[in-house]
Amino acid sequence: MDIEAFRKAGYQAIDRICDYYATMQDRPVVSQVQPGYLLETLPESAPEHGEKFEEIADDFQKLILPGITHWQHPNFYAYFPTANSFEGLLGDLYSSSVANPTFSWLASPACTELEQVVMDWSAKLFGLGDRFLCKSKVGGGVIQTTASEGAVVVCVAARARYMKMNPSAKLEDLVIYTTTQTHSLGTKAGLILGLDVRALEVKAEDEYALRGSTLKEVLEADLARGKRPFVVLATVGTTSSGAIDELEEIGEVLRDHPSIWYHVDSAWAGVAFACPEFRSVGKLDAINKYADSFCTNFHKWGLVNFDASALWVTDRTYLTDALDVTPEFLRTKQHDAGLVVDYRNWHLGLGRRFRSLKVWFVLRSYGVEGFQKHIRKGIEANKHFVALVKKSPEFELVTTPILALTVFRLALPTSAADGGLPAVNDLNRKLYARLMEHSDKLYLTQTMLNDVFCLRFAIGAQRTEVAHIDQAWKLVKANGQAVLQELERN
Ligand SMILES: *Cc1c(COP(=O)(O)O)cnc(C)c1O
Repeated sequence: MDIEAFRKAGYQAIDRICDYYATMQDRPVVSQVQPGYLLETLPESAPEHGEKFEEIADDFQKLILPGITHWQHPNFYAYFPTANSFEGLLGDLYSSSVANPTFSWLASPACTELEQVVMDWSAKLFGLGDRFLCKSKVGGGVIQTTASEGAVVVCVAARARYMKMNPSAKLEDLVIYTTTQTHSLGTKAGLILGLDVRALEVKAEDEYALRGSTLKEVLEADLARGKRPFVVLATVGTTSSGAIDELEEIGEVLRDHPSIWYHVDSAWAGVAFACPEFRSVGKLDAINKYADSFCTNFHKWGLVNFDASALWVTDRTYLTDALDVTPEFLRTKQHDAGLVVDYRNWHLGLGRRFRSLKVWFVLRSYGVEGFQKHIRKGIEANKHFVALVKKSPEFELVTTPILALTVFRLALPTSAADGGLPAVNDLNRKLYARLMEHSDKLYLTQTMLNDVFCLRFAIGAQRTEVAHIDQAWKLVKANGQAVLQELERN
């Protein structure tokens, strides 16, 4: 493809992307294809001779789009939002245009320095303390691919720090602490690093938050039997129910254990810190006071298209001590002189994408004010949803709604109260199965909170308006009533 052909194909691509967004609402939310649909359609090997680009582009429309679940659809309420923006999309386009792996400052000074700038901007946007700023020259932020990779990086740094402070410790005794509500990133970090992971219990009466007392008890018992907990992965806004661990209590317990790293994962909820009124809900003060590292994903609720996971640490030397790889051919005068950041030593890969560009585009185009407006809109929309649930006696909230996430279920009618938890779980499984039959109209996901089966309603897509929520609720309610009627009949 030459420049003029690219110009033509590029214009067409932008036109088609605009049409895609303009018609989003009329598309089925969840892809309706059957397993193997594409495997059976596409040839088994790459073509021997190059094909015309028009045909390739057409096949994206014809073959790929039907197999896409539209996360940007206004009636997408599953998992977590992935609020996209055109600014972010353009950022990725420009980033691709200068395609480079930017592993050292010299490999592309703009990539490194822009990342430092946007990470400092973002730290201030979210109210993080000065010790997290790149400008501090001690701490600093880095954009990781995902929160899960960020957690592995954190565990590697935490392990290095722990071993430095406890040289006699044996690696096989190290333990990563999570809770039963922690995202699978904790388990995965343990698998990758070959370390034990211990999921601490959390209780329904604490809204599934980790308490300092639980941590203290387990910690003391583990230490007594020779175990070496070296990192606590706490969460602000768990994936299942938005639970917020008791960060202050945890911080106080860890005060007596300075070699244990304290990480706060706020992959979904953290961007809400952009609004000062949500900082106390998410316990930002405790993060600033105690945490060694903090993570939130721009690529969820934060208007930047996947991927852009923001990770801050208060002491960058633990990352670089643990991950520094500087063979001769990567050495530069600027690195040797300690003048620059070489981000390859802050993450798992060597090469890295130029992600700061899309974050920069978004923050500049929206401004702090626009970013806040987007977050508040989601939270207001959730209040509307909560009011609808509360107005319907057939339904009940399972946990206190948090930010833009509501966990709810059908309540067991008094006539069937004998059935207890199995009966109400069964009822809700039936409701969920029915809703999945309408996955062209809306998409929400289920979860288990300890033994309770519930439905999650996660708001935050860019184009979700109150009218969409009304529409979605109508469908949920009608199906809920149908399930209850079925119960009455049997
Ligand atoms: C979504 C989520 C993650 C995982 O995010 P990735 O960036 O996909 O790894 C981790 N923790 C929480 C609380 C999440 O909501």
